Amino acid sequence: MSTSHASPAAETEIKNFIRTVIDADLASGKHPRTITRFPPEPNGYLHVGHAKSICLNFGIKDDYKARGYASECNLRFDDTNPEKEEDEYVQAIQADVRWLGFDWDGGVRYASDYFERLYQYAEELIGKGLAFVCELTPEQMREYRGDFQVPGRNSPFRDRTVEDNLDLFRRMRAGEFADGSRTLRLKIDMGSPNLNLRDPVIYRIRRAHHHRTGDAWCIYPMYDYTHCISDALEGITHSLCTLEFEDHRPLYDWVLDNVTIGCHPQQIEFSRLELLYTVTSKRKLNQLVTEALVNGWDDPRMPTVSGMRRRGYSPAGIRLFAERCGISKTPNVVDLSVLEGAVRETLEAEAPRVMAVLDPIKVTLTNFEPGTTGSRSAPFHPHHPEFGEREVPIAREIYIERDDFAEVPPPGWQRLTPGGEVRLRYSYVIKCDEVVKDADGRVVELKCSLDPATLGQNPVGRKVKGVIHWLSAEHAIEAEVRLYERLFTVERPDAVRGEDGQYLDFKQFINTESLRVVTGYVEACVRDAAPESRYQFERLGYFVTDRRDHAAGGRPVFNRTVGLKDSWSKS
Ligand code: ATP
Ligand code: MG
Repeated sequence: MSTSHASPAAETEIKNFIRTVIDADLASGKHPRTITRFPPEPNGYLHVGHAKSICLNFGIKDDYKARGYASECNLRFDDTNPEKEEDEYVQAIQADVRWLGFDWDGGVRYASDYFERLYQYAEELIGKGLAFVCELTPEQMREYRGDFQVPGRNSPFRDRTVEDNLDLFRRMRAGEFADGSRTLRLKIDMGSPNLNLRDPVIYRIRRAHHHRTGDAWCIYPMYDYTHCISDALEGITHSLCTLEFEDHRPLYDWVLDNVTIGCHPQQIEFSRLELLYTVTSKRKLNQLVTEALVNGWDDPRMPTVSGMRRRGYSPAGIRLFAERCGISKTPNVVDLSVLEGAVRETLEAEAPRVMAVLDPIKVTLTNFEPGTTGSRSAPFHPHHPEFGEREVPIAREIYIERDDFAEVPPPGWQRLTPGGEVRLRYSYVIKCDEVVKDADGRVVELKCSLDPATLGQNPVGRKVKGVIHWLSAEHAIEAEVRLYERLFTVERPDAVRGEDGQYLDFKQFINTESLRVVTGYVEACVRDAAPESRYQFERLGYFVTDRRDHAAGGRPVFNRTVGLKDSWSKS
């Protein structure tokens, strides 16, 4: 796990074992340039693990282009599974890749564009005696396959003639056979210790409507067969995938060695990103959505790209995170705080700063005098004068944060307390003269006096260390503020075992407090902010106007992106 905290600017030249291979291939002339691809299956929204893969593949293109190579990166939908794929996902995935700051070369590509060619290559393999039509049922197939201890057995249909196989395969395509009644299998080696090489199925019969080819096909190619040929047809130089495909590489290479295709991409595997306190599996994320445990794929608590976007994470923050995760073959288990840290770092310089009060307590400034008591303007960012300034108005009634006042202050307290003084940010020093409580003893108001000589100046003869944020009650506007916490209460929600040794349902570890909605107050200057405007609320954290709901009901809606400090790291 990488926890380096160098500044973004310092992290320019990326080194990893894949780039070492690429550098060598370019230096030796094996390839004049790189062509990589990102190949999602359109069966869900992209998550943070995909973001890592996107940053890797598109990052290689961008960086090698910057070094003078005509590098490219394709976006290809691996749409060989007609039942699970939907156009909604196809659209969302494109939007996510663009939002992350990347663009693909040529049009969007689909494995289904290659169905006819894949079919022709299957006929070629049959013609070479390297594929056969099998009639074993799925159960028989499993039995014949063996396992790690037991070698497989040849299918009784393995020795059909080329003519018979061709005839049967054509009739499979023509729709003469029932779903699942026949498959096309490669003839490799049932005794291989690698189960992927035990005569793998490359075509199955499935009468299902495909999101692009409609009902044109009733046979569909399998992933392993489709992927390598699609890569080769696109002239991919380096086919980067996650480690679980390491054992599939011999099959990837076998297919390309046995069809006439003239291109043989190199498959290189790297470890999957695993993020603690969340799940990164489209299947599990899908469950959260369909069981309404979250509010859709883009719920700000989701580790999806669209969820992170709605949460207020910036593309630069996610890219910085991906860079820090690094690329290797060792397990890549990363704490959520690394992602939050990268996001926080990018927002630090980007987000204008304003004041908001989320849990207000009313303060009456007893010596406030209209026309005499002045106000100042304040910059939106201490280091970016180009962000501009706004007036920070004061009035007789103001709000401060409830936890900036303590009747019985703990040692070292620098905020407000009875008889004590504190500075209002960009304004006066005030002193608490009286605490007003309701019948239950709850503090409902503070009566304070301001020192008129302290607007923008230090008080004379004494030091006031504390500075708190505040708002003028009559100038502030109300806002809905959604306070998000981590979605799960345990590090690995999908890896907790019960007493019987079985995995427990990950959904039982959902943090029921992961969303709290409050009505708070913000400076009036945010009234006209567009959706997806990111701000720092001073002393509180980073917040973003909600993409969907902001201003829709007439008032601002903010999502808390991340706090100002890591409040989760183990002490
Ligand atoms: P999931 O298990 O969530 O469905 P997947 O690997 O099946 O993920 P694909 O759509 O097939 O999803 O993945 C597209 C690309 O993203 C693949 O190259 C895959 O290796 C990569 N990818 C998916 N998950 C991760 C991850 N956690 N870390 C890094 N890369 C990933
Ligand atoms: Mg997959």
